[in-house]
Amino acid sequence: MSAAQAMTGWIAIAGLGPGDEALVTPEVSAALAGASDVIGYIPYVARIAPREGLVLHPSDNGVELERAAHALELASRGRRVVVVSSGDPGVFAMASAVFEALEAGPAAWRDLDIRVLPGITAMLAASARAGAPLGHDFCAINLSDNLKPWSLIEKRMRLAAEADFAMAFYNPRSKARPEGFARVLEVLREACAPDRLILFARAVTTPEEQLTIVPLNEASAEMADMRTVVIVGSSTTRLVERAAGPILYTPRSAVAAAS
Ligand code: SAH
Repeated sequence: MSAAQAMTGWIAIAGLGPGDEALVTPEVSAALAGASDVIGYIPYVARIAPREGLVLHPSDNGVELERAAHALELASRGRRVVVVSSGDPGVFAMASAVFEALEAGPAAWRDLDIRVLPGITAMLAASARAGAPLGHDFCAINLSDNLKPWSLIEKRMRLAAEADFAMAFYNPRSKARPEGFARVLEVLREACAPDRLILFARAVTTPEEQLTIVPLNEASAEMADMRTVVIVGSSTTRLVERAAGPILYTPRSAVAAAS
């Protein structure tokens, strides 16, 4: 590498996938191997093996914009920076924060070499473990009300239920919503039939993985925590019982549901 190349900074906003190292893409591994700095939320940076010449910058939750500006600043000084998120960096994660900081920051940041490296997001990992509950139309909703009011979350949930989307809920527990997931279940009970199938997928692809599938009338708030992604089926989502464990899937055709 020439001295000029060595001085050229870049920033890669990378997704580490849901937990299993086999689900980290080769593209992300290559970026990490070439990085001088890794920046991210403490538990995600903890997944990166320390090595000579690599500076790790773990930071706490809630400082996403400062973290993003720090990453851009380092890259502008010639560092090779990987910003890590779990799952996919574009799904309720750091990619938007970096672009928000870039838009508000010095004009020179716009000339930086910036790439987003996708990862396997929690809902797709969970869906694959359970079968194919997202096999027809679906939506994803972040239930954290740190960045939006509860009224907007509730509105989106009700309209999605009315449109009969399957729904994936991220961040089912939130500091600002002490009643937890109970209010979400109340809204679903108003909008959906009691036999609507729900998947609680916890710590998917890690040794602590736990999958629970229940009808809406048997779901309780304690089934969800911060390591859980919740998938609510559409009205056509079904369960196939097998000795090896049930398969949850949504048929590809919604003809029957529409008629
Ligand atoms: N960028 C991440 C999401 C970050 S928000 C992604 O694409 O997956 C954090 C939320 O993601 C958690 O509260 C949980 O709802 C979900 N999540 C992340 N990893 C998970 C896993 N291994 N199993 C289940 N849910 C997970």
